[in-house]
Amino acid sequence: MLLRHTTKDIKERKALTINPAKTCQPVGAMYAALGIHGCLPHSHGSQGCCSYHRSALTRHYKEPIMAATSSFTEGSSVFGGQANLVQAIDNIFTIYEPEIIAVHSTCLSETIGDDLKQITEKAKDNGKIPEGKHVIFCNTPSYVGSHVTGYSNMVSGIVKCLSESTGKTNDKINLISGWVEPSDMKEVKRLATLMGANFTMFPDTSDVVDTPQTGTYQMYPKGGAKIPDLIAAGDSKASLAFGEWATKDAAIKLENKCKVPFEATDLPIGVRATDRFIMELSKLAEVAIPDEITTERGKLVDMITDMQQYLNGKRVALFGDPDQLIPLVEFLLDMNMKPVYIVSGTPGKKMQEKLEEMLLPVVPEAKFQNGKGADMYLLHQWIKNEGVDLLIGNTYGKYISRDENIPFLRMGFPILDRVGHSYFPTLGYMGGLRILEKILDLIMDKQDLDSPEREFELVM
Ligand code: SF4
Repeated sequence: MLLRHTTKDIKERKALTINPAKTCQPVGAMYAALGIHGCLPHSHGSQGCCSYHRSALTRHYKEPIMAATSSFTEGSSVFGGQANLVQAIDNIFTIYEPEIIAVHSTCLSETIGDDLKQITEKAKDNGKIPEGKHVIFCNTPSYVGSHVTGYSNMVSGIVKCLSESTGKTNDKINLISGWVEPSDMKEVKRLATLMGANFTMFPDTSDVVDTPQTGTYQMYPKGGAKIPDLIAAGDSKASLAFGEWATKDAAIKLENKCKVPFEATDLPIGVRATDRFIMELSKLAEVAIPDEITTERGKLVDMITDMQQYLNGKRVALFGDPDQLIPLVEFLLDMNMKPVYIVSGTPGKKMQEKLEEMLLPVVPEAKFQNGKGADMYLLHQWIKNEGVDLLIGNTYGKYISRDENIPFLRMGFPILDRVGHSYFPTLGYMGGLRILEKILDLIMDKQDLDSPEREFELVM
């Protein structure tokens, strides 16, 4: 029993979080920055922070994640980090030759009050930013929000620092990608291409954090949104933003700055959320939905129908990020499963509202919490009081899964102990099939293991 100190008795806690269901803002900012081609993320703070952010991403994506740091010492912590950052920008462009540097702050640089806008302007005035190269920035104080807030802040930073309107609309749609796997970004692009849409996706980490072994190290892999496309995002005819938490802020900023109207939609997880994405894209890009996509949808619906006896009424506990959890809950409900416990360390009232609306009419016993106090300790306590048939979340759920003997589906960030997430999508109808396959494997394996001999079936 690794979590043997988790009690069944739930006491109200006001100032204590145990095993938070989130990580720190700059991790998200760094991941979003990697979705720009030729970008070197830069952490404005101490070396320790940068090492943590890099290792969190490296362990999940199984790729060496490169980033630079302002390397604060006692002096910069007291007098400010301006000199370090200006020097760092000079060194990075001279030695590592990126197209763009994406700077994010940390708890320390935020607390001492460093002004990233002023410092990057100073670097420009001092001639430290070569012609045609760019430095963008965002604020990521990690004592508020979560890794999702950091991702959102960097996506907004891209829009704020790069996108421009020439006054002449191009025919493109901006697909503003939420925090998903490179495989998912590829899947959304595949669907948009099948529909014949003219689009720019950003951030786009496909072919950046899922690169092949070629024997030659490439500091800047071929993937990532191209800078001219990010600038021209201000001329697009519309934006489609995937996920309220990770992308809506950027879509609003682009509308305010460049008058690009937007629609916000859920991450396309499951049948209905994918339907909404396909319909929205069809409307915004003025393109038809090809039969191939309708066929993919039919296959997902068919498998849900075929396997109802294994899914119906199964109790599920979930934890992770709101943008994933909301459509995932909807998908589980569509399969007649019962999402009973949900927690997310990412704050935002909308999550409570959306879950209340979706869940309470059909699963009145459901419990959910996000933001302050919503941690994995609470989730474990709920499970201890009344068990579940399936747990869904990132790798940290394996302790609960092992202690309570619950089948465990790894989804979300970080996944430190399995592979495949970089290559096999969970978005779109085909991604829905993969989620469903994994759920069924877990449920049926458990049935095989637990069933008495007389009920052990060859054909299920
Ligand atoms: S000090 Fe702040 S920014 Fe640095 S690793 Fe910790 S939470 Fe993240």
